[in-house]
Amino acid sequence: MTTPRTLANRSRYRGGVTTRYRCAACGNLTRFDVVETTTVRSFYHFTVGGDLTVEEADVVATTVESVTCRWCGHGRDVEEIAETA
Ligand SMILES: [Zn+2]
Repeated sequence: MTTPRTLANRSRYRGGVTTRYRCAACGNLTRFDVVETTTVRSFYHFTVGGDLTVEEADVVATTVESVTCRWCGHGRDVEEIAETA
């Protein structure tokens, strides 16, 4: 028998898009404070006893609210890097 707890550990967010950022002011490529809203659809699996396992978490939508450079303390010069696949 598989316990609900181990199943829960297998559920993960799947980030669909990877966007990179660059701060034009200081050249920072690696440290940003990103505020984002993520909408997730999940399968809630309750046991009869009321224990909950959340499975199949799917990111339906992600909206980036703001990106702030860690070093400059503001996001005025932060730009997205276009990924060339
Ligand atoms: Zn910066």
